[in-house]
Amino acid sequence: MAVTRAIEDAARRVGRDPASVRVIAVSKTVAPDRILAAAAAGFNAFGENRVQERQAKTEATAAVAASWHLIGPLQSNKARRAVELFDVIETVDSLELAERLGRIAGELRPGNRLSVLLQVNVDEDAAKAGFDPAALERDLPAILDLPGLAVDGLMTVGRLVETPELARPTFVALRTLAERLRTSHPGLGPALSMGMSEDYPIAVEEGATMVRIGRAIFGARPSVV
Ligand SMILES: *Cc1c(COP(=O)(O)O)cnc(C)c1O
Repeated sequence: MAVTRAIEDAARRVGRDPASVRVIAVSKTVAPDRILAAAAAGFNAFGENRVQERQAKTEATAAVAASWHLIGPLQSNKARRAVELFDVIETVDSLELAERLGRIAGELRPGNRLSVLLQVNVDEDAAKAGFDPAALERDLPAILDLPGLAVDGLMTVGRLVETPELARPTFVALRTLAERLRTSHPGLGPALSMGMSEDYPIAVEEGATMVRIGRAIFGARPSVV
């Protein structure tokens, strides 16, 4: 499959083990039968950006042995459903949301921490969600102390750019921030979720451990969703 090959090539260019990169197949707007086909083809992690959409597909995809990632913004009133429906929440963007998820995970799955990533707006782009880096640095110790959560690492959504190469500074910024934070906060996990259909080879070159790929796997989405 072209995506797998492109990841292998990108990893080799920089001396990384291709097995250190996990593909999150982004199945938003994709019907369950096509998710089942992708699972049969070997994908074992899927990303959805809306809690309701994941919920609607739960029954039809029950046979899929996969890890489900929430990759879209999470409103606090949907936090409980999200903990029930997802294995990884990639879009934790405030201390308050982290505290709420930690509390709910402690209730619903005691002894089994919920995996989360902290979304960072490394481009400091006003249009985008995520912690700004200074706020993350301030709130990180409190988040790492929450008993219900496993903070696997960081996630970012790159800005829309004309060519993939222009996304590189965003990926470098996330990796550099993660490296710096991990020296003083070893409880922060090593995951870096960055890169999408247009730019994932660049993200792999810059250290992505998860790439979130929709259109390059499933084809174009309907333009109105
Ligand atoms: C839709 C989406 C993706 C995948 O985008 P493609 O361009 O289809 O690969 C990745 N990350 C997030 C947060 C998304 O919403």
